Amino acid sequence: MFRWIFIFSLLAVSMNSFASEGMIVRFKLTNSIRDYLRNNEFDITGINYKENHIEAFLTEEQLGMVKSQKAHVEFSFPQSLALGPDKEYKNPEEIEEFIKDIHSRFPELTEIKEIGQTLEGRKIWAIKITGESEKMKSVFFVNGMHHAREVMTPEITTDMIEYLTSRYGSDEKVKSWLDNTVVWVIPMFNLDGNNKMWNENSMWRKNTRNGHGVDINRNYPTAWNTCKGSSGSTWAQDYRGASPASEPETQAMMNFVASIKPVFSISYHSYSEIVIYPFGCSPKRTPALEAVETIGAELGSKIDYQPGTSWELLYNVDGGDIDWLYSEHQVIPYVIEVNSTNEGFHPSYSKWRDVTVTRNRPGWMYLLDRLQGPSIQGKIALNDYSTIAISLPGASKAFQNYKINPDGSFHVILKPGTYDISFLGNKTKVMTNLKIDSKKQIIF
Ligand SMILES: [Zn+2]
Repeated sequence: MFRWIFIFSLLAVSMNSFASEGMIVRFKLTNSIRDYLRNNEFDITGINYKENHIEAFLTEEQLGMVKSQKAHVEFSFPQSLALGPDKEYKNPEEIEEFIKDIHSRFPELTEIKEIGQTLEGRKIWAIKITGESEKMKSVFFVNGMHHAREVMTPEITTDMIEYLTSRYGSDEKVKSWLDNTVVWVIPMFNLDGNNKMWNENSMWRKNTRNGHGVDINRNYPTAWNTCKGSSGSTWAQDYRGASPASEPETQAMMNFVASIKPVFSISYHSYSEIVIYPFGCSPKRTPALEAVETIGAELGSKIDYQPGTSWELLYNVDGGDIDWLYSEHQVIPYVIEVNSTNEGFHPSYSKWRDVTVTRNRPGWMYLLDRLQGPSIQGKIALNDYSTIAISLPGASKAFQNYKINPDGSFHVILKPGTYDISFLGNKTKVMTNLKIDSKKQIIF
């Protein structure tokens, strides 16, 4: 079987008269092979926990090095850099057209915003979707494609945009979500990289800085270059950039997030069928009393993806967006890696596009539902209070200190339970033994 696949793929490549310039290689998953690939800064492309293997994109020379470690190669598939994904996947121009078309069809429900420009001057678009009600609303933020070759991710984001806008008038559930939530979506973030992926190199991942590119998702300032979770080599696929937030894309994202103050976020990547939550550096985790991990596990179960931190599931990551979102803006943030190793970066559009977007809907829908679940929400005068300290009843120390938003609003997601909640600032107000059950509670 192995030999047949190998011969077949060589034939396919030579018939198209493209030279093979690397290959996707599949190994039985062991810690030693994972660490070897990682320590040599090779391009680990995905992992499969159900079938217990790991994949990397390697040159002949790199494959020779790995084989010398007596690693068991299960599969190698030559990959021409010139052969791109199916043409139905979207490019930056089609994303811009899509956004403008949605806005012209649903002008009351949507607003579109250029949040900044890429290195090459492309406009980075975001779309705001919200219902007409005047209720106090929480912000849910979704983005696709930090990495240029992950072409399924804008399919997820555009499907979500299409789903929510087209059903607001007819679907009670969608109406309820949008009347209680402001949804912001950046459907495609790494526009220059994606353009290069279509025109030069189908395996391109980074932006296009100086030809070598920077991995935008290792360029955020939180924990930048602290735990071998990125590379300092310009050729590496996870090159972190010359300094924290050196890239205009990173800066645009940071300014945008600061302006919208999300409660939850999802950053879509591919592939591995996993849900990742902070932190990226071993052995750091979010406090067990906070809801980040339990909601991440529930999110994973909705779409049958494995949940965990990146260092548990893949490897250390430093300078990634979710650590920054959590640490700087108290967002509860997730990375979702869509598709498995059997689909890879460029699955057949006709076979996998609809299957993948449909499978992922219960994930983002769950977070829209969870905004109305156990939590406290309100709006208060900022000159009275600046922080909300949350502790277990009678405990001397808070497990979470929530900074109230610049407009006085707050929405703290909690696990169901009983808490002492203290509003602190120029005044103090303490609510003891507040029971948080299955519903959001509006206080103040
Ligand atoms: Zn990615």
